[in-house]
Amino acid sequence: MIEVGILGATGSVGRKLATILIDHPWFKLTAVAASVRSQGKNYGDFVPGYDLTISAPEPTLPCKIVFSALDSDVAGPIEEAFADRGYIVVSNAKNHRMTDNVPLVIPEVNSDHLKLLKGQVGAIITNPNCAAVGLTLALKPLVDSFGVESVHIVTMQAISGAGDAGKKLDIEDNIIPFIPNEEDKIENEPKKILGTLKNGQIEPLNLKISAQANRVPVSDGHTASVSVKLKTTPTPDELIAAWEAFKGLNLPTAPEKPIQYLPGIAPQPRHHRDIDKGMAVTIGGLRPCNLFDYKFTLLSHNTIRGAAGSAILNAELICESLAVDLKQRRILAEF
Ligand code: NAP
Repeated sequence: MIEVGILGATGSVGRKLATILIDHPWFKLTAVAASVRSQGKNYGDFVPGYDLTISAPEPTLPCKIVFSALDSDVAGPIEEAFADRGYIVVSNAKNHRMTDNVPLVIPEVNSDHLKLLKGQVGAIITNPNCAAVGLTLALKPLVDSFGVESVHIVTMQAISGAGDAGKKLDIEDNIIPFIPNEEDKIENEPKKILGTLKNGQIEPLNLKISAQANRVPVSDGHTASVSVKLKTTPTPDELIAAWEAFKGLNLPTAPEKPIQYLPGIAPQPRHHRDIDKGMAVTIGGLRPCNLFDYKFTLLSHNTIRGAAGSAILNAELICESLAVDLKQRRILAEF
């Protein structure tokens, strides 16, 4: 078993990471860290089944890989300190997603971007914003088969996407528009992920995305209404076939079918967010758009595919691709 730790283990994403890791075939959780508010407490009080004392997030934890679920106000320098000391940091936080030598990865989409890590001793690997991940997965087969020019997306994001702060939102019988700092991530992260690795750098995909992000009274699962303008115009059946043909990976947390097209009035968060243990992105309602070519509805589980599950999948990818010498905690130069 490979020893792993969680920074920010007491938050919404940290607890989800720990819950998924309980039964993980490769990873054993050996260290948890959080703020001074939680240090010294028993982690079993946060996630039943564990008997670990919560530590300070200092780079002396007894593990080789750390998952970061830290508040973005503090994640940046703490993650850098761990990477500087040779840890592999697999982060959910936004701080380093757009940093040049940090891969922003969805394993089914751009595993080749891990090559950015070549030669690094210690490293940070990031997974995308919780609304960007579903959009990017949905776009990938369309980019490859038809080309995509423009995207308009309106999100309806779950309360849990705001972390523990979400519990204080005035959300009952309400919608809160303009989620702070969210639209920028949805508009830019897909371009890096769908971009091309050239001469050791990512060239972002030339694509226009306009996003409007809203918080809605749903516990888990980000839904989005999406319109796309394509470079060629496939039939609806060809478009659905491209999504359905999109292949999964052979990794423990990877869903067999990462994109699933559902018939009828779907997807709906309460009914479809947990498909394939929350790792599948579901799509429905494909129809012509009067402004662009097509519109559809998209759903992904924000704390699983949008955070904890994606981070664990990234850690599996990096271990499986033999890019990591775990004894030395370093990225192999030959990779
Ligand atoms: P959260 O519930 O607010 O949890 C934040 C965590 O950070 C807690 O464990 C907290 O510890 C810890 N923390 C705060 N200040 C700290 C400090 N000074 N030193 C050490 N630890 C500190 O947030 P979350 O929703 O789990 O999100 C975690 C990260 O993932 C964020 O960067 C967020 O943007 C990102 N993310 C979240 C989602 C989602 O759907 N929720 C999706 C994708 C990405 P204490 O409990 O001790 O305060």
